Amino acid sequence: NEYDYLFKLLLIGDSSVGKSCLLLRFADDSYVDSYISTIGVDFWDTAGQERFRTITSSYYRGAHGIIIVYDVTEMESFNNVKQWLNEIDRYANDSVCKLLVGNKCDLVENKVVDTQTAKAFADELGIPFLETSAKDSINVEQAFLTMAGEIKKKMGSQPTA
Ligand code: GDP
Repeated sequence: NEYDYLFKLLLIGDSSVGKSCLLLRFADDSYVDSYISTIGVDFWDTAGQERFRTITSSYYRGAHGIIIVYDVTEMESFNNVKQWLNEIDRYANDSVCKLLVGNKCDLVENKVVDTQTAKAFADELGIPFLETSAKDSINVEQAFLTMAGEIKKKMGSQPTA
């Protein structure tokens, strides 16, 4: 084994909040400013459409951690976090670890979701919260490390296959 722990992590949230960029920043320490289309589950695309339910549930199945991402410059993406949490409740394992991430914190001038509001929301849910920038590489590694730490805590010292 080249690893001590193997986790399945999901990044969810509205389109364009920066999920792909966060992953690319963490995995490759790179950033591209062009839109990357992703294979994923878009809440608004799948809502109410029965034929997508199997895809949705298989996407969530076996996840140890879920990073819920919103864009600090898009209020709608923050408001939709509630819908994403509903999806998690419906499809993910009850013991799944959650992390709330407000991405694009480099766009200070355009910020509309304030830190205290998001922090209070996360505190109420009992989940950790961070603001990140995939572009300027702020808190990205921290986000993944926080998630891994939460999962490790939950799993105890038992490595997983
Ligand atoms: P996804 O649909 O959630 O996977 O979003 P993407 O990762 O494709 O990002 C959507 C757009 O937001 C792209 O044009 C990115 O360049 C931009 N973007 C992503 N992360 C950041 C960030 O941290 N700061 C800024 N300023 N733009 C970002």
